[in-house]
Amino acid sequence: ADMDVDTIWMDGDFVDWDDAQVHVLTHGLHYGTGVFEGVRCYDTERGPAIFRWDEHLDRLYDSAKPYDMEIAHDREELTEATLELIRRQDLESCYIRPLVYYGYNSLGVSPGDCPTKTMIACWPWGAYLGEDALENGIDVMVSSWRKHASSQVPTNAKTTGLYVNSLLAGEEARQNGYREAIVLNKEGHVAEGPGENIFLVRDGEIFTPGLAQSILDGITRNTVITLARERGYTVNDEAVISRGELHTADELFFTGSAAEVTPIKQVGNVSIGSGTRGPVTEELQKAFFDLVERRTDDHDEWFTYIDEE
Ligand code: PMP
Repeated sequence: ADMDVDTIWMDGDFVDWDDAQVHVLTHGLHYGTGVFEGVRCYDTERGPAIFRWDEHLDRLYDSAKPYDMEIAHDREELTEATLELIRRQDLESCYIRPLVYYGYNSLGVSPGDCPTKTMIACWPWGAYLGEDALENGIDVMVSSWRKHASSQVPTNAKTTGLYVNSLLAGEEARQNGYREAIVLNKEGHVAEGPGENIFLVRDGEIFTPGLAQSILDGITRNTVITLARERGYTVNDEAVISRGELHTADELFFTGSAAEVTPIKQVGNVSIGSGTRGPVTEELQKAFFDLVERRTDDHDEWFTYIDEE
């Protein structure tokens, strides 16, 4: 596998890679009934630290709500399991993937008495869109696939099944020679990327779509909004952005736990701003990496250190 994982936490136990199996009649496999998280642990001067673990846990429990999924483990248990996985595998920095899903019992769409299963795995994962992307930006295309509307499915829940839309949009972009997609919502307004939120900079102000645009409430989005406001920027975080405004933006960038802060240099055949990473993006990107790698003392409350002092 492309992932270097020795130990996986499953329903309360630490199991070896080879034993971390699921049954083929697992409900979540058939109907996409899982909720999950993607979290990063950074290598800091005080050792490995998980970034905004509490907020990711909040979102995990919230994502389970519309599906009536009763997560069988409390926050302390999931936290201890994750800390232990990182310690046992001697990870300095890693990506953390908790997943909660309906297991097997019956195979009607109604989960009936299917048990709620939980797993957590961690592995080293570099820059999601590439190191070069962070510095020089990526080219993206506006997908022909629209994002599902929040009136059709709760888009603020991070549900496994929803990611078929992300896959379609992302693969379409890559088949057309672009690194990533921008997905419009059902109304035709800018929503987000397949696994990223999007920000637009114009005349020194910052804009990003709000939850009513059928986006995921990104934790990196919230982080970047906070960092920008602390630096005196005006941030409109409920912006309604039309497709055409992408082309006339001074700067565009994506945010995400995996994608971090990635500049967008081109949309379709249109070069954005100067065609490279813009100054506001660079400032916020630097603020972000200074924060997560703990070159500042700011927002220490956002970090869960693996090694106790
Ligand atoms: N939108 C979608 C569809 C995503 O999958 C993600 C990644 N979780 C994001 C936005 C960014 O969210 P976060 O910053 O919490 O990772």
